[in-house]
Amino acid sequence: MQRRTFLAASSAMAAASLAPIGARAQAAADILTRPWTGPYGGVPPFDRVKVADFRAAWDAAMAQELGEIDAIANNPAPPTFDNTVGALERTGEAGDRVDTIYNIWTGTLSTPELRTIEKEVEPKLAAHRDVILQNEKLFKRIEAVYEARDAAGLTPEQKRLAWVRWNAFVRAGAKLSPEAKARVAAINKELAGLFTTFNQNLLADETDYVLYLEEKDLAGLPQDVRDAAAQAAREHGKPGQFAILNTRSSMDPFLTYSDRRDLREKVWRTFYSRGDNGDAHDNNAGIKQILKLRAERAKLRGYPTHAHWRLDDAMAKTPDRAMELMMRVWPSAVARVHQEVAEMQALADKEGGKVKIAPWDYRYYAEKVRAQRYALDMNEVKPYLQLDKLREGMHWAAGQLYGFEFAPVSDVPVQHPDVRVWKVTRGGQLVGLWYFDPYARTGKRSGAWMNAYRAQQTYAGKITTIVSNNANFVKGAPGQPVLVSWDDGITMFHEFGHALHGLNSEVTYPTLSGTRVARDYVEFPSQLNEHWLPTPQVLNRFALHYQTGKPIPAELVDKIRKAHTFRQGFNVTEYLSSALIDMKLHLASDADIDPRAFEKDELAKLGMPAELPMRHRTPQFQHIFASDGYSAGYYSYLWSEVLDHDAFEAFAEAGGPYDKAVAKRLHDNIMKVGNTVDPAIQYRAFRGRDPDVKAYLRDKGFPT
Ligand SMILES: [Zn+2]
Repeated sequence: MQRRTFLAASSAMAAASLAPIGARAQAAADILTRPWTGPYGGVPPFDRVKVADFRAAWDAAMAQELGEIDAIANNPAPPTFDNTVGALERTGEAGDRVDTIYNIWTGTLSTPELRTIEKEVEPKLAAHRDVILQNEKLFKRIEAVYEARDAAGLTPEQKRLAWVRWNAFVRAGAKLSPEAKARVAAINKELAGLFTTFNQNLLADETDYVLYLEEKDLAGLPQDVRDAAAQAAREHGKPGQFAILNTRSSMDPFLTYSDRRDLREKVWRTFYSRGDNGDAHDNNAGIKQILKLRAERAKLRGYPTHAHWRLDDAMAKTPDRAMELMMRVWPSAVARVHQEVAEMQALADKEGGKVKIAPWDYRYYAEKVRAQRYALDMNEVKPYLQLDKLREGMHWAAGQLYGFEFAPVSDVPVQHPDVRVWKVTRGGQLVGLWYFDPYARTGKRSGAWMNAYRAQQTYAGKITTIVSNNANFVKGAPGQPVLVSWDDGITMFHEFGHALHGLNSEVTYPTLSGTRVARDYVEFPSQLNEHWLPTPQVLNRFALHYQTGKPIPAELVDKIRKAHTFRQGFNVTEYLSSALIDMKLHLASDADIDPRAFEKDELAKLGMPAELPMRHRTPQFQHIFASDGYSAGYYSYLWSEVLDHDAFEAFAEAGGPYDKAVAKRLHDNIMKVGNTVDPAIQYRAFRGRDPDVKAYLRDKGFPT
């Protein structure tokens, strides 16, 4: 998942925030807004951040950007590419710098003080963006450049940029009546507040509910899960107890291994009730309002629904094409769930416990079936997956594919003592910096993600690209290596794939840089990168036992490979049910939706198996309600997955995962071009044809 980028920043808060700010506030704002200094062409001043300064910094950055925009809009010279579309690429840079640091603080170092500031800042930012996107003089100039693009002798990248800018303005409603524009701006502002509340409610439910256990309650849990629970309890001031946190990384291993069915049910119910407890942190009313506002906004913009508006500039283009792909896969996934449940039920019956498989039993019995059928106990795998070694492995693979070398550096400030930084070079030339923030902590949101701290470009002069990866691994006991699950290892390679997309970028204009591509295409490079963890080259060198240093045995790898299609019914169905509900919520144009009833009814219509929930139930669906981000866009993972499996087969066809010629084709046509080329054309240039869904279906073991 990615965080929003600071497009052209923004503000209708004009009157309030343009009031002169005092000298102290100015000095505070300067730290966050000024160009970064220090080594590597400047690095974020993480050592000088004070939360209280975000207000003044945002106000200053927004005021500065409005000034920059006005200068372009009111330029007496006739519009040209350089004085309009090109010039826009140099605006909002102060805001970009504030945004980088603000996103890190809100996402990984959140505090009550910061949450108060967020509530004030987010609506202002939304309004600011609208002021720019609704600037008529500016739009007229962009439109003139766009319409003259063929006659003006522009490069293909410049033509693409002119289209991207023009399209962003049109999609935001540049051609609307003044009344409609005002209403869209008001909606955006209201939505920004609702998104923040949604997020904060979810974070509260993840933080506030902790299950404390005694030693006697831990039956079935492997040692590393016990250690992590003990550590979490210590951090919560309850040494000697064991804490199961209300996060995915705490819940998942507990449900997989705990023999205590009563506790599994408790943990399951708590986790899947986040945002849905009918209390002060309940998200249902907010969601209803979000959906209503999105539907109204889409109509104002001339689209039948929010989904139609969202997909218009995606690779899929229409909700129909996205639904068609999802419904092509759905019946196979559900059929596989029924098979998986039948196998688990047979095993449970044999054990004689009179258990009817319930959602809190799925992971537990699936693990037992896996152990039995494949003689594969995932706990046997974990001692070979040391966080630090896997990181070396993904660096090594990136070296083989893209020629990158990684070297740790300690001469840059970091936002938290856990964060480490690597210098990235190619052929001795500095390319970028990679920040890695691996561990869970209070105030950090769950999951894993990539951020671009400074996107690649050459337009404003050569800069060092700065990217980061973030995860929520549970920090082990001091001195002990952190062991991660196979799935977490895959996630590491995934997020690193986003980082590689950013680091490989070789474009001129920042708006078209690296990961700033269509949202159903952005997961393609990241999901593709997942394929290199299971390669023997990585496993033999880097999947080393934490005690013996021996590489993971070939037989064990073979078992993992054979077990790969195992539990894909669960995996695909929990994902796809979320993606389908997302699309249906945003296709429902009557826009008066009771989220709880809607989810229940639509899942029933789809034939959702009773034995598992959606991966993200509606009241917890951060991808679609914490911002417009992945709204009507959660299908993107499947869309991209079809691409990544089809693309990886190109390596297999050519002779292996490290084939130099295919890697070069990948780099030249996809990894380095960012959004300078239409995604469908990028893909065709790499593969020689359009993507085919069959590689995806084969990978899951579904009929093709
Ligand atoms: Zn991703």
